[in-house]
Amino acid sequence: MDDNQLLRYSRHILLPQIGVEGQEKLLASHALIIGAGGLGSPIALYLAAAGVGHITICDGDSVDLTNLQRQIAHFTHSLGSNKALSAQRTLAAINPEIRVTAIPQRVEGEELAHLVSQSDVVVDACDNFATRHAVNRACVKHKKPLVSGAAIRFDGQLTVFDLRRPDSPCYHCLLPESAQEEGERCAVMGVFAPLVGIIGAAQAAEALKLLTGIGQPLLGRLQLLDGLSMEWRQIRLKKDAACAVCGSV
Ligand SMILES: [Zn+2]
Repeated sequence: MDDNQLLRYSRHILLPQIGVEGQEKLLASHALIIGAGGLGSPIALYLAAAGVGHITICDGDSVDLTNLQRQIAHFTHSLGSNKALSAQRTLAAINPEIRVTAIPQRVEGEELAHLVSQSDVVVDACDNFATRHAVNRACVKHKKPLVSGAAIRFDGQLTVFDLRRPDSPCYHCLLPESAQEEGERCAVMGVFAPLVGIIGAAQAAEALKLLTGIGQPLLGRLQLLDGLSMEWRQIRLKKDAACAVCGSV
């Protein structure tokens, strides 16, 4: 690190758990963020500010006036721009020293598998079950840690699936594909503005912990937030031995 980097990251370096060594790990890391909306915005802002050396962010949607109430990586002058490209510009303004790759489309199939295989941590900030399950399958296949989060109305949740570990549950263990209602999309539901900030910031914290290897990841635990009472609950998650995605066949 040069003198400017030592200053830019000094409040991380002062933390004994991170220090110069941890900060260098972040600078050498590659994070994949799926979605540049309500959750993806704070996730990307914090990972960029914190000096994650390479961030790939994917989103096929354009910035719409209804997004600006909570999707803080985008500005009024970004209306109509692709969200991944808009976020890339915002991240470059915060930290021009890192590399940000914008993928201005919904990623799936081979491209998704390739992106997952190239990353050190995957952060799911998407708004639909099909993508969540596709990201989970790719993370199981390539044994990558996945930080999962969701926020709707006043309710939020997050957890970590560390698919490098054989005992880790996966997203499909938590929510099998047959059990969901595809109809409930954020696109048409109310969302309390700072809820996505709270959950997204917590996802960023888990991603930084995984990349530096500090603390205890939120593994095997689903953290639930009721934003109206500001009460957090935690429930235990176990790997489903019969899971169609991660179970032993
Ligand atoms: Zn599973």
